[in-house]
Amino acid sequence: MSTLDPAAGKAVYDADRAHVFHSWSAQGLISPLAVAGAEGSYFWDYDGNRYLDFASQLVNTNIGHQHPKVVAAIKAQADKLCMVQPAFANDARSEAARLITELAPGDLNRVFFTNGGAEANENAIRMARLHTGRHKVLSTYRSYHGATANAIALTGDPRRWPNETGVSGIVHFWGPYAYRSAFHADGEAQECERALAHLENTIVFEGAQTIAAIVLETVVGTAGILVPPPGYLAGVRALCDKYGIIFIADEVMAGFGRTGAWFAVDNWDITPDLITFAKGVNSGYVPLGGVIISDRIFETFRERPYPGGLTYSGHPLACAAAVATITAMRDEKIVENAKRLGESVIGPELRAMAARHASVGEVRGLGVFWAIELVRNKETREPLVAYNAAGPAAQPMNEFTAACKARGLWPFVNMNRTHVVPPCTSTDAEVKEGLAILDEALTVADAFCA
Ligand code: PLP
Repeated sequence: MSTLDPAAGKAVYDADRAHVFHSWSAQGLISPLAVAGAEGSYFWDYDGNRYLDFASQLVNTNIGHQHPKVVAAIKAQADKLCMVQPAFANDARSEAARLITELAPGDLNRVFFTNGGAEANENAIRMARLHTGRHKVLSTYRSYHGATANAIALTGDPRRWPNETGVSGIVHFWGPYAYRSAFHADGEAQECERALAHLENTIVFEGAQTIAAIVLETVVGTAGILVPPPGYLAGVRALCDKYGIIFIADEVMAGFGRTGAWFAVDNWDITPDLITFAKGVNSGYVPLGGVIISDRIFETFRERPYPGGLTYSGHPLACAAAVATITAMRDEKIVENAKRLGESVIGPELRAMAARHASVGEVRGLGVFWAIELVRNKETREPLVAYNAAGPAAQPMNEFTAACKARGLWPFVNMNRTHVVPPCTSTDAEVKEGLAILDEALTVADAFCA
């Protein structure tokens, strides 16, 4: 731990409150923790309080905090070349693109770089619209795709509501979620079948010839860690092929090891037409995202200019961080570690916790990408807090969160769920330490059960 200085922490906090405008927050109601440092699976404040990062920040530090090889690569790149604009070729960018396409499935052989996930989705749907000459894009209600104009319109969850700008041509449909089936299905197989029938109906009634793309989070992230049932993604692929629609897999959160595979689509052997990524590609040490492009879509832009770009696309520092991250993840078998943690530690322990706690309705996930869904009543499945509850209505989840933090765990909490999303580099001991704290904190949630 670096030298701690509570007075310095107070100065950081005071300046923040005076001058920083925070995302997704009522500015007068927040009290941001001043973070002094971080290493591996932990971060700490200026008073010496250390937290186990069970949120991987915003589910992005897949390689943990301050990985020495990534830090060294950023420093070395800074010494060599900090900035070169996107129209030039650059060694860090070329190598990052080569490594990413080597990992990507099928014929996804080109990378368009962005600064993050929302811009990746903006460009993916632009590519799909230009490639098909169609304008509509379909996405699911339970989803998050980013906070820029089109990406927030694609988003299904309530973050879209205050941001509705009337972007046209975006249509939402229901994806599979067997625990709260929109189709009154009984079990995963029926859920899959009905979800695909619903999607095909949506395509037909919207007019297939008007639909450029279907955008899906391969495994839905912030909206619930919804793992698709076997056959669902293959069914979506088949519908896209049948109707000439581009399949865009949003792997901004699910990609780069989070599910125990390099890309979440690898779990079902699916090749989309476009994959969007960000977060885990370099663990967010320097902002980076992008779109991985199939040969077929690439051909559309061989002779015709692609009308889009960003000053910082493929920034050398970000790409150097990606090269070092991917190389370290390969050398240290970090993706394999995420898979093993899911199968041998997190899955079994969460299932045991579900049996012990009245408030645990369902646990689900894979790799280091899990959700615990909290309910008031296991029979009725009434959520512990209502959809999008805020203020006093969110009290049970607020008390649960406070119980975690008081015990040194920084949880990821959204609506009536806590997500278990530690770094892919976590050790068994760290994960067990975090799960033991969650186990204790769940007794706080149990007290609200009917
Ligand atoms: N897509 C998914 C699935 C995400 O989880 C996120 C962010 O959490 C985004 C897109 C947006 O990424 P960014 O915040 O980098 O714009």
